[in-house]
Amino acid sequence: MTRSDKSQLLSLLSDYTSMIRETLDTIIENDIRSRKKAHELCYGSLRNKYPHLHNKFVQEAYKRALGMYRSYRKLLNKWKRLPEKKRKRISPPSPPKVDGNRIIELHIDTYKLERKHGFIALTISKGNGVYLKFFVMEYEYASRELKGTKLGNSKVLVDGDSIFLLLTIRRNVEVREHRNKLIVDINEDSIDCLLVNYEIGEATLFSIRHDIRKIRTNYRRIRKSIQVKVNNPRIRDKLLAKYGFRERRRVEDRLKKITTLLAEIAREYNADLVRESLKDLRLSGKKRSKQLNYRLSTFPYRKFITYIDYKFYERELNVVEADAKKTSITCPICGYVDRRNRVSKEMFKCRRCGFSFNVQYVACFNLFSRSNDGKITIRSGRIYLISRKTAQVVAVNVAPNEPSNQMRWLREKPVQLVTKIPLVSKI
Ligand SMILES: [Zn+2]
Repeated sequence: MTRSDKSQLLSLLSDYTSMIRETLDTIIENDIRSRKKAHELCYGSLRNKYPHLHNKFVQEAYKRALGMYRSYRKLLNKWKRLPEKKRKRISPPSPPKVDGNRIIELHIDTYKLERKHGFIALTISKGNGVYLKFFVMEYEYASRELKGTKLGNSKVLVDGDSIFLLLTIRRNVEVREHRNKLIVDINEDSIDCLLVNYEIGEATLFSIRHDIRKIRTNYRRIRKSIQVKVNNPRIRDKLLAKYGFRERRRVEDRLKKITTLLAEIAREYNADLVRESLKDLRLSGKKRSKQLNYRLSTFPYRKFITYIDYKFYERELNVVEADAKKTSITCPICGYVDRRNRVSKEMFKCRRCGFSFNVQYVACFNLFSRSNDGKITIRSGRIYLISRKTAQVVAVNVAPNEPSNQMRWLREKPVQLVTKIPLVSKI
């Protein structure tokens, strides 16, 4: 720090202190308690009197004065409420004073920290194009904390010959560590879900049935008959466009309803989304399997995923992708993969370990273990999730027949909750 920088800093401190003193007088005189009022009464005159200072210093000055007055008022009221006897013995709180102030509030706009040649350089914009430069001696823990964080409003403390920077760092606290999970398996007739609630040690299976495939096949039939029956090409195109628009609107409506529903459930339970990764859908043209082509023609996967991701991010919930290859024919208990594990449209039965369960939820279990949260196990006929992260054992339940109050949106048709699911888990 150069001598001129230090004298600049000291003059800033003295100006800053006078600003606080002046606003404090105005605030006490007019009994101002809101920031808006303080701004109206103080900002303009201070700006005129101290045009050489960055306007954020003016703002911070009246904010500080207001804070001082407010806490003074609080103490005063407390004193006034004392019984008379006590009040005589205790003197009233003294009005706030700023003499001997050693602190300058640094608004985030008035300073900058940069690393130069291994040192941290602090630049303070005093206003009017004057910049003060300091090198900051950093404590080891401070440099550790500084990595990858955002800075907030900070302070400079002038203590005799020493100057300290009191830095405020804002850390990202949005993502909690043991957040619950909502595992979603997307199918053409239903969205099958596993909600893992680590907080209460319970997991619930439920399914949202929808009619998107029905809508699509319906309109496909309509399109075909238009093409056969209407000969006039102009009218035909018009009709096709009309019904195409209707189909898109109806499908879109369902997609929005389902994804909002899922996002609302997730928010209620503070759960991140686990869904199949898009990788499988990225294959294009001839490389796509017949099965995948069929899936894509009956259900708009890509759109669904775009919508659901958006709705989760909107609610500050994360989205985790898991590999979805062969999730419906893999045994979630022993990992055995075989097409014949799927004994019927409804039943899954592992040919190796004998685990049997309703087929629509097998994929959910597999997505859960592939998302790296933990694994699935069976103990005395019941299914449990063993969480790797929280070292917890979570019992799996099936949603009750009557949707709970929190799941009330599920009753709305045509997106409805399917509740009758047999829980079979014999070995
Ligand atoms: Zn098995």
